[in-house]
Parts: sequence; C-alpha cells; structure tokens
Amino acid sequence: MKINTNYLNLKDSYLFATVSRKVAEYKAANPSKEVISLGIGDVTLPLVPAVIDAMHRAVSEMGNADIFKGYGEYQGYDFLRQAVCGYYAKKGVRLDENEVFIGDGAKSDVGNIVDIFDTDNTVIIPDPVYPVYVDTNIMSGRKITFVNGNEQNNFLPLPDESTEGDIVYLCSPNNPTGAVYTKEQLKLWVDWALERDAVILFDGAYEAYVQDSDLPTSIYQIPGAKECAIEFCSLSKTAGFTGVRCGYTIVPNSLIRNDTSLNKMWLRRQSTKFNGLSYIVQRGAEAVFTDEGLRQNRENIGYYMENARIMADTLTELGIWFTGGENSPYIWLKCPGNMSSWEFFDLLLNECNIVGTPGVGFGQNGEGFFRLTAFGNRDDVIKAMDRIRKMRF
Ligand code: PLP
Repeated sequence: MKINTNYLNLKDSYLFATVSRKVAEYKAANPSKEVISLGIGDVTLPLVPAVIDAMHRAVSEMGNADIFKGYGEYQGYDFLRQAVCGYYAKKGVRLDENEVFIGDGAKSDVGNIVDIFDTDNTVIIPDPVYPVYVDTNIMSGRKITFVNGNEQNNFLPLPDESTEGDIVYLCSPNNPTGAVYTKEQLKLWVDWALERDAVILFDGAYEAYVQDSDLPTSIYQIPGAKECAIEFCSLSKTAGFTGVRCGYTIVPNSLIRNDTSLNKMWLRRQSTKFNGLSYIVQRGAEAVFTDEGLRQNRENIGYYMENARIMADTLTELGIWFTGGENSPYIWLKCPGNMSSWEFFDLLLNECNIVGTPGVGFGQNGEGFFRLTAFGNRDDVIKAMDRIRKMRF
C-alpha cells in the first residue's frame, strides 16, 4: 500500500489558524477591547425572502408523497439549469442547458476539475490568488508555474512570449486582490490559450460584485472563450449561500481536446462521483435568478459595496495604495511604511483592534500587502475606519 505522497508536498496552511490564535491571545490579554474583524471572507447578511419562500415551498413538497423527490439529476434539475441559462442570456452569452452543471459550490468543482486532466500538464497560477488552485494541483502532482501579480500590473498578470503551460487559472474579480480583468485583457488570455490548445479555468465566484458595465462578468463574453474555457460560479457570495451550498460550472460543448469533449468527460466524472444537490437547495437557487431574487440580492451586494466604498475612501484619504473595492468585496492594500504583512497585522490588531488578512498567506507576491473584506456590518466598518484614520499611518 502506498499513499499519495504528493500530499506530503503541501505546505501547512498557517494563515487563518495563526490569525485566529493571535486574535484569541489578544482578546484574552485585553478583555475590555472591542476587536473588529475586517478579515472575514464569509457573508453576514441572511438569505433574501425570495429564496426563503422558495425553500419553504420545496420543503413542503418533500412531505407530499405525490411530488416527493428522491435522487435528482447528476447535472442539476432542468429548472435551475434553465434559470442559469437565462442569467447568462442577460450577459449576452448563449448557453445550452447541457453546458451547465449544478454543484455544491465553486470550491468542490474547482478542486475536482483536475480529475479530467493528465497529471503531466503544466499549470499556470497567478500569485497571489485563492490557495485552492495551488493545493489541488500539488495533491495530484502537477508542475506549477506562477505568473506574477504586482503593483506594476495592478495584480492582473497577462501572458507574454515566455508564458508556457497547458492549463491556466484566472480569478476575476480576484480573491484576494479585488482586481478585475478588462475584456481586452481577458482576450489576451483567450488568444494565448487558443494558440496553444491550452484550457482556461475561469473562477467567477465574485462576478455579481462587478458594478462597471464595461467589465466582463463571464469569460464567454470574450470571443473564442467557448473553445478554450471552463467557468466556475457560485451563489455563495452572490446570494449568501456559503452555508446552504450551491454553485454552477459551465463546460461548453465546443471545448474539445484530444478529439474528446470535456463536457462529456465532466459529465462522466460528476455522474460517477457526485449524486446531485438537494432539491430544496436547487429551488432556493432558482429563486436567486428571478427578478425579485436578483433585486433583493443586489440590495445585499449594494450594502457590502457601500462598506467597500467607505474603506476605499479612507485609504485614499490616507494616501495608502490599494486595489479592489470598486467591483469586488475585497480591498488589497500596500502595508504602510514598508511593513511586512504580519507586521502590519500585529500593528492593526494591537493599536486599532482591527483584524485583517496578511497578504503573504495568498502567495509570495502577497508579502507587504493586506486584505480587507467588505462583508462586515456597517457600524463596525465606520468604527474601524475612524480608528485607522486616527492612527495616521
Ligand atoms: N473561488 C474563490 C475565488 C473564492 O474566494 C471562494 C470562496 O471563498 C470560492 C471559489 C469557493 O466558493 P464556494 O463557497 O462556492 O465553494
């Protein structure tokens, strides 16, 4: 018996454990201090009424012998896949129902998609980025090359003559930097992939936060993308489904490699290893895409984006460099005074009683940067910004 020794190459994930330990120690030593978290990567507003009503109705249906549902469709119920197609149609993207796969969230699908690719492929991953791309490829022993995000390219790396690889992960709006690729920039990646028969894995988990109508919210808004890209989306941050769980992955029928349809491969993978998402959750998800559901969720997103605006205004006022916050719930700032990510974390915790996330936890290029999130409540955000303003970094 041999274990998968690739797992031994994974780095321990110290980031959130260290943040929690430091915060717990500070609170124990300073019980009278009110600590505000701007590090939270989870939503705080509850599910909207349209979703709750739909889920209540679905629960009642499950108690009725005539319409009770057992195992569902591997790929998701037709009603939800049609709703997703309708959502994409509004973005100007035509999808076939069979190109939409409903799952339990973007993390699972982003992690599982590697099953359909040979371990021999070289994977390109931006640095800094959501750590799941790196770890899932280490687990399956793939070679990883990094493309650098930095202040000069606004944390939006682009391909050049030296960029070689078979699979590239793109995350836009980006976690942790909040940076969003323009259509022109995404086109460079699409053309790069088409030239080499490479595949783009596009993570659009934060697409609903894009406010600027000129910016793309799906890679399929770029000509040629249906021949080279798989797109992952999630209702987690769009509609507060982090605990309920629902996401969707688009694998176009025209995505063919080695004379094989990746859509058919992914269907085979899902129908073998996944038994579908609960009917109740899928009815709740369907409600997200109704006019009322979209309106109610837009209000929640508007609340978070106002938090982001308040944070961005404060940083601008203090002359601190940052990106994000305009089309994403994340603000990525440069630690003042050339502090390291952890030095700034400690200073912010000890002097302002504010918790954020050290950028170095998202990749080497994150050193010297820091992530704030807009998912907190308004009073806390205002209070936190007052404290930062008084510090005059
Ligand atoms: N992709 C990115 C970029 C994320 O930041 C997250 C969650 O934080 C996910 C995917 C996972 O989302 P889900 O809750 O749908 O699994």
